[in-house]
Amino acid sequence: MSNLCVAKFGGSSVANYEAMQNCANVVLGNPATHVVVLSASSGVTNLLVELANGQLDKEGQEAVIQKIIAIQENILEGLGHPKEITEEIEKHIKDIRALAHEASMQTNTALVDRIISNGELMSTKLFTELMKQRGVKACWFDVRKVMRTDSVFGRAAPIIEVIRTQAGQELANLVKDHIVITQGFIGANAEGRTTTLGRGGSDYSAALIGEAIDASEVEIWTDVPGIYTTDPRLVSTAHPIPELTFDEAAEMATFGAKVLHPATIQPASRRNIPVFVGSSKNPAAGGTWIRTETQSKPTFRAVAMRKDQVLLTLKSFKMAGACGFMATIFGIFAKHGLSVDLVTTSEVSIAITVDNGFSGGNSDGKSSLSDALLNDLREVCNVTVEEGLTLIAIIGNDMSYSTGTGSKVFSAIFDVNVRMICYGASLHSLCFLVDAKDGDEVIKRLHVHLLD
Ligand code: ASP
Ligand code: MG
Repeated sequence: MSNLCVAKFGGSSVANYEAMQNCANVVLGNPATHVVVLSASSGVTNLLVELANGQLDKEGQEAVIQKIIAIQENILEGLGHPKEITEEIEKHIKDIRALAHEASMQTNTALVDRIISNGELMSTKLFTELMKQRGVKACWFDVRKVMRTDSVFGRAAPIIEVIRTQAGQELANLVKDHIVITQGFIGANAEGRTTTLGRGGSDYSAALIGEAIDASEVEIWTDVPGIYTTDPRLVSTAHPIPELTFDEAAEMATFGAKVLHPATIQPASRRNIPVFVGSSKNPAAGGTWIRTETQSKPTFRAVAMRKDQVLLTLKSFKMAGACGFMATIFGIFAKHGLSVDLVTTSEVSIAITVDNGFSGGNSDGKSSLSDALLNDLREVCNVTVEEGLTLIAIIGNDMSYSTGTGSKVFSAIFDVNVRMICYGASLHSLCFLVDAKDGDEVIKRLHVHLLD
């Protein structure tokens, strides 16, 4: 369908009643918007994860539940406590209480997903009521009817063809004369059991829905007016980037800026759907458009950092001149379902980084680097694990074809110990590792030299 927009609002955009009113303004400001995808209100998923991990005693659980109630109450109060929706929210709270108790006896990843899905279920119910109060023909939609995933609870993968078929049957008609309000982050497996796409997954949900219904545009509304040249809290001269290519945005989301979930770009670029990132509080401030082609293609577009990287150095003298060693190593990572970020090799060793941080991780926030994985690696090679590293990514265009890229970058940080460099695999990035203590300074200097 042409001229059909999917608008996604993040946790801070639906944090309270006032913020939700801003979202309503944004939705109503674009007549093409017929699907609204929401995160849980800011803080709610973290609180639910605490309950789901099952470590709290009765009192601890109740204290967390009271915090969740307070967030819902703020919105309910703004809405004037309508009976039906107030009861619905009470039901969710009751459900959360019972499941938290279950988790404290014994938890598991499927139970975690059931608990944390309540955040998005509640925010969407409240927002639907708010839209109705503003006179809109809005309807609440359970995304689990379309968002089919595999059964990897906590980090489920979407099944694209099924999502498309289901959306054709369940959503296509509804969006013609309604504004459909639905949940990001959550899905269901073939048996209808609730799954989640991993923390920050709502952006990905919005892009997947956009792909499934052939949307003309996906909007990601957050608390900043677009994607910045770097984190503006760190560098005061950082500024929003008006446009980015899908390739650049994919590198940025994977290696740095936390504005977008890394997988978001995939569905959008598969179907060539432009993605807009802007601030729901200040839509007039503009934002970033992500498209296949952009007008300008600067060598340096942004610098970003990602903390909490783990560097694994895998050494084996059997690797020298041998075949298949890498296949063995990567086979072990695949078996444990762990995604590898950067890779460099020498004759007898491989250095690999994995993200131990929050973003892109499992929904329960647990580290993905397990003892089982390390033991399997130790069977075939010598393993050194180093933590406390920060990945620096420089994002741009045709980087390995531009003369002097390396010298511009490294002369700016000549006195910093650089641990690992990845350059040349992508035209759109140059990445390296530094000690966590050097990260901020490196970003500041690179911004001055490359982007100011
Ligand atoms: N509510 C989920 C989270 O906090 C998903 C999202 O906000 O994208 O991770
Ligand atoms: Mg997010």
